[in-house]
Amino acid sequence: MISPPVCYPGSVPTLAVPKEPWPERRVALVPEIAGRLVQEGWEVLVERGAGAAAFFQDAAYEAQGARLVERKELWRAELVLSVQPLQELQDLASGTILIGFQYPYRAPERVRELAHRSLSALAMELIPRITRAQPMDALSSQATVSGYVGALWAAQASPRFFPMLTTAAGTIRPAQVLVLGIGVAGLQAIATVRRLGATVWAYDVRAAALEQARSLGARVLELPIQAEGEGGYARELSEEERQLQEAALNERVAQMDAVITAAQVFGRPAPRLLSEEAVRKMRSGAVVVDLAAESGGNCTLSRPGEVVEVGGVRILAPANPPAELPLHASEMYARNLYHLIRLLYQGGQPHWDDEILQGALLTHQGTVTYEPIARLLERS
Ligand code: NAD
Repeated sequence: MISPPVCYPGSVPTLAVPKEPWPERRVALVPEIAGRLVQEGWEVLVERGAGAAAFFQDAAYEAQGARLVERKELWRAELVLSVQPLQELQDLASGTILIGFQYPYRAPERVRELAHRSLSALAMELIPRITRAQPMDALSSQATVSGYVGALWAAQASPRFFPMLTTAAGTIRPAQVLVLGIGVAGLQAIATVRRLGATVWAYDVRAAALEQARSLGARVLELPIQAEGEGGYARELSEEERQLQEAALNERVAQMDAVITAAQVFGRPAPRLLSEEAVRKMRSGAVVVDLAAESGGNCTLSRPGEVVEVGGVRILAPANPPAELPLHASEMYARNLYHLIRLLYQGGQPHWDDEILQGALLTHQGTVTYEPIARLLERS
């Protein structure tokens, strides 16, 4: 349980919210959460225009007691909140705390610099997936947005209706939609596609994920590959397993009107599930939406941020799906941050001796505290 509101005695703690680099449209703090933090004793600095792309106007932050400032004035804050990794590390005083997605595997050299500059970075993607941490779990909140957006993209790009229709002009059969990778994003894609009335099929390498898909009304593809890893995650497949999976999927995707892929293996490139051969077997007018494009893509033909067409099949690979729904994605993310800030400042000062904070801590007091990246940097 999170403790009751914290009021900070003595000096007023200051936090800052920069405008995110375009094309990121989310913002780390929304006015409502800024207001809560102000009431709890924080000075909240928001860069002018920070929320505009997510439809939160400057005046709304001001009305909640936040101060609008120019970017260079942000860096005096002891805590900086962002969505994307902050780049102006040279402008921050040592000891500044950064909270945001840090993508340590994509940019390990930046992690080295964070440590070198004695910045304390909490990585939202490293929040442990334990029950107590659920209110802070930004991977899940943003994956929920991705799954919803992915389903809508599939429906919109499809030249068919998704639901069954009985009309004077005849009966339309429901679209057949396959969701590959049933984590948080895949589950939301299933739920949304079901609401649109299509018949949904689901596939994952974890039996528990298939059970959850069934409970949402999906039909399950039974393929002979199981790959349960540690902590409820999937493990990476061996080359032999991967080929077996690809061959089995090739046959099944040919019968689908849309395929939404959301398969990930934490800290690794996204698994390749759909080959060019599989896409070429699909019907003309079929659609693939690859929600894993940012981490390498589940389809070999995906190009992040582009639409590729092969033999009448369109492959959409949104580069940053949560940014497509910036208002609610920001609201959910800001709530995640709020709970994390409350935990971090429980005694009025930052304290780090908590399993959740330790799990998410990437760098602290000049050291890379997240072991896998520390080892990676030692080898490089
Ligand atoms: P994820 O984004 O890491 O992966 C998405 C899905 O891809 C997973 O279901 C995975 O099994 C699947 N996948 C990986 N390789 C595959 C392959 N070769 N073929 C097909 N599917 C493949 O997943 P996530 O959304 O982060 O969720 C991962 C796990 O964490 C789930 O068990 C979820 O229930 C659990 N979780 C727990 C909590 C919590 O307890 N607080 C919160 C969120 C998620």
